[in-house]
Amino acid sequence: MTERTFAPGRGAVQLSEREIADRVRDLGRRIVHDHEGAPIHLICVLNGAFLFMADLVRAIDAPVTVDFLSVSSYGSRTQSSGEVRLVKDLDQSLKGKHVVLVEDIVDTGLTMNYLRSYLEGRGPRSVKVASLLSKPSRRVVEVKIDYLGFEIEDAFVYGYGLDVGHLYRNLPFVTSMTPEEARAIGE
Ligand code: 5GP
Repeated sequence: MTERTFAPGRGAVQLSEREIADRVRDLGRRIVHDHEGAPIHLICVLNGAFLFMADLVRAIDAPVTVDFLSVSSYGSRTQSSGEVRLVKDLDQSLKGKHVVLVEDIVDTGLTMNYLRSYLEGRGPRSVKVASLLSKPSRRVVEVKIDYLGFEIEDAFVYGYGLDVGHLYRNLPFVTSMTPEEARAIGE
């Protein structure tokens, strides 16, 4: 068998597999506690949140249903236009459900802001937001994150579902680039 090792980036943000697992377990417990054991409908924002979603769903000891949506935002990460477009819509109704939206990272907040009001307009009983990461220093609109994994500084992060040009989503940890490296690839 060939050994496969992943080299972490050289940036300031580094979250180990263990740290992530511990935090996700805590978030799962809090979600169950806050919903008093009622069924929870988890909505994963593709693609970046797929690993967080997979681990979070297993940390929730209550009846759970899942659905998936995908959005694309115009412009680059650093110069977001604020326009968000739904690329893949939900398959199931939200009527009367306790919804938890699962995101990888809240950066400017524009995506989350759009999605929260989109979901609220579809008749759920409640909408809460879980995000693995948040970069508060980059916020353009204020958004409430009910279940936050980690607050991080402004760095381009990847791994554990987050990509660099569609790659590295399979890293079991979160790592980051130096600002110079991020600039060089246009992030
Ligand atoms: P927002 O609308 O909050 O500015 O952007 C949210 C989206 O931008 C995230 O869901 C994610 O897809 C992308 N994003 C923001 N920061 C990063 C980052 O540091 N790394 C990666 N891979 N994607 C990011």
